[in-house]
Parts: sequence; structure tokens; C-alpha cells
Amino acid sequence: MSKVLILPGDGIGQEIIIQALKVIDHLNANDDLGMELTHGLVGGSAYNETKSPLPPATLKAAHECDSILLGAVGGYQWEGLPRDLRPERGLLGLRAEMDLFANLRPAILYPQLATASTLKKEVVSGLDLMIVRELVAGIYFGQPRGIEERMGERYGFNTATYTESEIKRIAHSAFKIAQKRNKRLCSVDKANVLEVCELWREVIIEVGKDYPDVVLSHMYVDNAAMQLVKAPKQFDVIVTSNLFGDVLSDCAAMLTGSIGMLPSASLNKDGFGMYEPIHGSAPDIAGKDIANPLASILSVSMMLRYSLNQTPLANKIDLAVNRVLDQGWRTQDIANPDDSIIGTNQMGDLVVAALQ
Ligand code: NAD
Repeated sequence: MSKVLILPGDGIGQEIIIQALKVIDHLNANDDLGMELTHGLVGGSAYNETKSPLPPATLKAAHECDSILLGAVGGYQWEGLPRDLRPERGLLGLRAEMDLFANLRPAILYPQLATASTLKKEVVSGLDLMIVRELVAGIYFGQPRGIEERMGERYGFNTATYTESEIKRIAHSAFKIAQKRNKRLCSVDKANVLEVCELWREVIIEVGKDYPDVVLSHMYVDNAAMQLVKAPKQFDVIVTSNLFGDVLSDCAAMLTGSIGMLPSASLNKDGFGMYEPIHGSAPDIAGKDIANPLASILSVSMMLRYSLNQTPLANKIDLAVNRVLDQGWRTQDIANPDDSIIGTNQMGDLVVAALQ
């Protein structure tokens, strides 16, 4: 029996999570999923009720569960709040509290949606790569940092740091993920220029000795950026630092051209994970029954695969999504001009039907 905390959050988060719950309910009832759900508040909706974007009850529930399924946070109405009360602080607070250092961002282009990409169909059709980004260290957190007055002008500075143990733990996560996929891992760095990357490469190679079944390669980040748009299907799993991962994962996501299709995960060393779509709360379309719920449904699949050890049921969800796409069903964000468009609810129902 696994315990999962459901945090719908704000905007379309509320609508898409309902569709993911339909899938969980179905698998609980028909496939012995054995998932026990608790529900909590995060983001702007949590602020409205408790005056905090991450209430103590949510933190407590997070510590008591095996995984979190999150919708999205944010919205115009909370933009004027002090920074530490804004919805996004709820998300960052959860990442920090649960030490979620490994961010997994798959970029999958379903062949049925190949025309959604801005790249040529043959370059991206069938694309399936995973970027593993270090999430809680590196230049985003390194000290010293700041903007100061020096020698009569303003001087801005940050520090790129990685300890051996920070690199080791992300390396282990990435190698284990590669083992569950096609057993190829490409480590992206800038070791020709930066000492911190020299250490990164050394440690990745050392950790790689524990995973002889995974083929390890290395690539400089500038070349990786080029290769991602030139021949993205050459990659299976990419592991990289916080800064490089931030840039490359957005680039990879956009290869697929469909923000409503992509799930993500943030994991800690115990395999505990927070799973969520990569998109935000989309206030422009919230409450209209038009948001694509597939990223949220696929987040459940990722959770089953990477935290809850239920790969066959993860495969079952992926297959159901594929079936629905094969049948031609599209929400507006992934539709071609001639497609007939369905809403959030109907898409959720069709995926459940395809599970049978
Ligand atoms: P967004 O991802 O919410 O929306 C970008 C565009 O994509 C919008 O046009 C939106 O309508 C569309 N879109 C997003 N998800 C979709 C879906 N499932 N189906 C169909 N269309 C979809 O990004 P934004 O507009 O920059 O941000 C809106 C709010 O979300 C902000 O408050 C931002 O801070 C927050 N945000 C939250 C997260 C998160 O919770 N992880 C991530 C990014 C942004």
C-alpha cells in the first residue's frame, strides 16, 4: 500500500488533477494499485485559506507519504503578495524540505503529435529522452553572491560550486534511471573551461564504475544545445548541473511543441518524489474545461515507474494515452486545424476507458 499526497494547487491544477485521480481510482478498483490518497493545500489556494502558501499541515502530510502528485501553482491574484507568501514559495519550500535534488524532465514526442513541433517531423518523431537536472546546488545556491559597489562601479557575482557528494548522488540517480531505460547516459558539462565541471566529470566517471551496464558519454554544454536541436534522438538520458539543466530541459521540452503533454519528477535520495506537469497554472484558460490533462495523467505514470515500483501499471497508463491519441482525440493545445476538439473532462474519461 502506498500513500500519496494530492496537491491540486491553483488554476488548471484543480481541473487536471481531477483527471489524474480518475485514472488512480480506476487502477485502485481494477488493477490492485493499492494507492491511499490524502489531500492538501499548496500555493495561492493554500494562502487564501491559511495565509501561507505551504501550511504546516501540508508539510506534515508530505513527510508522512511516499510521493506527492501536484497540479500547478500561481495566478494573477497573488502576484502582489510579498515574495515569501507567493504561491511559488510553496513549491520551492516543498523541494527544499524534502531535499528533492534530482529533477527528471522527459521530453517525449508522440508520433501522433509530430506536427506540433517546430522541428522537422523526421528529426523529432518518436523522440523520447530524459534530462536529469541537479536541482538544489550549483551556481543558483553557491556563496558568495551579490551585487556590490567595487572600484567605483557595480559588480555582480555568483559562485558555481559542487561538492563531491552532491555530484555523486545525482550521478547515482541518473545511472539508475538509465538502467530503467535504454542504458545510455550522457553527462553534460563545460569541463574544458570550468574547474567545477572538471570535478563533475571526474566524479561521474567514478560513479559510472558501479554501473557497467550503462554506456557513459560526455558532451560540452554548447555542443549539447546544438545536438538537441540537430539530432535529439541520439540521447537517452542526459545528466547535468542545475544551470545547464534549467536551459537544456526547456529547450528539450519545446522540441515536442506541446507543454500540456509533459510530466516531471523531483526525487530525493530515498526515491521519494514530487510529480507534476511541467506547465504552470495557466490562469488564461482556467475553469474553462479546455486544459490538457495528459501531463498530469502521465505524472501518475512517472510516479509509478520511479517511486512506487509499479512499472507494469505505468506502462498501462502510457499505452492508454497512446491509444487515445491514436484514436484522434485532441485537446485544443495539441489539435491541428481540422481536428475535432475535446475538453479536459472528456480527455480524462477517454484515458480511463482506454485503460480497460
Ligand atoms: P503556464 O505554463 O501556466 O502557461 C503557458 C501557456 O501554456 C499558456 O498560454 C497556457 O494557457 C498554456 N498551457 C499551460 N498548460 C496547459 C495545458 N495543460 N493545456 C493547455 N494549455 C496549457 O505558464 P505561465 O503563463 O508563464 O504561468 C502562469 C502561472 O503559473 C504563473 O503564476 C507562474 O508563476 C505559474 N507557474 C507554475 C509552475 C508550477 O506550478 N510548477 C510552473 C510554471 C509557471
